[in-house]
Amino acid sequence: MSTEFIPAAHPIIGEDEVDAVSRVIRSGMVAQGPETAAFEQEFSEQMVGGAHCVAVNSGTSALHTGLLAAGVGPGDEVIVPSFTFAATGNSVALTGATPVFADIEDDYFCLDPASVEAAITDKTVGIMPVHLYGHPANMDALGKIAEKHGLKLFEDAAQAHGATWGGRPVGTFGAFGAFSFYPTKNMTAGEGGMITTGDGELARLAAMIRNQGMEKRYANEVVGLNNRMTDINAAIGRVQLAKVGEWTRQRQENAAFLTENLEGVVAPKVAPEATHVYHQYTIRVSADRDGFVAALKDEHGIGSGVYYPIPNHRLPSLAPYAPGLELPHTEKAAAEVISLPVYPSLTREQLERIVTAVNAVAKAGA
Ligand SMILES: *Cc1c(COP(=O)(O)O)cnc(C)c1O
Repeated sequence: MSTEFIPAAHPIIGEDEVDAVSRVIRSGMVAQGPETAAFEQEFSEQMVGGAHCVAVNSGTSALHTGLLAAGVGPGDEVIVPSFTFAATGNSVALTGATPVFADIEDDYFCLDPASVEAAITDKTVGIMPVHLYGHPANMDALGKIAEKHGLKLFEDAAQAHGATWGGRPVGTFGAFGAFSFYPTKNMTAGEGGMITTGDGELARLAAMIRNQGMEKRYANEVVGLNNRMTDINAAIGRVQLAKVGEWTRQRQENAAFLTENLEGVVAPKVAPEATHVYHQYTIRVSADRDGFVAALKDEHGIGSGVYYPIPNHRLPSLAPYAPGLELPHTEKAAAEVISLPVYPSLTREQLERIVTAVNAVAKAGA
């Protein structure tokens, strides 16, 4: 049996991507152009049922630009989870609005609708659920709350390419959705992001804000940024988009194998309405999580990740928005979670090594 180290993540970037990038570089036109337009079109058809797509230079830019296009700004509050990557709250804060942190559900690690409803004030303009680890947030319950209180939904779909809720793809529920193409996500463009929306005017504004606020050259209509995607990145994204469906199927198969064979830990659950795309396969361990991670690495050569050890409302950057706030389910998850390797290139032998290692460490600690 091999004892080669199994890393926590393993982006697949190969010769097809090299060829696509070479083609763009040889064309002499590398900034946003026809490759980006084609990527937007293909992503629209494949991922979000034909919704408008606006490509940008990162997932964070997709969130930030989308919020600006939706008119979010100073004086507004947007309810976000604290158990997520800091980009979620950062994007709200960067508009001048206030991120208001709500708690999560234990089973799926996504926003708890009851906690969201309790956080609504007369300044709340929107709710930003995160489809964490590739599992969609409860879009039925959050949709009802948004409707009842006249709020917009903004979906952080950075980890959830292809996930569905009630058969409908994430990125199509809210005023907009935001995807990321960072290398460790389910598909990459090197770096990059995509804003998805059913609202043509929001798409037009987002495309303008992406490009210094202009639709017509040098006739800048609004204040904007340079958040453009390059055609080099779009070319990588197009190759990956053609493969991500098969990769997702492999992630789901790997997850099923782990869930069937792991013992002594809490395996991830899937809501009956959900399709999980397993950006992460995240277990809970009840005692000494950091010791568990160290034992997997040192005794068994298995890499794993902790996403995320510090809740956003406890970070020095975002804590000032949440004085005195207690989010017990968030704190508990931050202390208990471990994400195991689940990426598509894992072999059966590697999966068996992961199971053997996790079960041994769990048993030793029990
Ligand atoms: C990765 C990620 C982002 C940001 O995407 P980038 O492309 O890294 O800017 C935002 N939200 C979540 C939940 C993420 O995982």
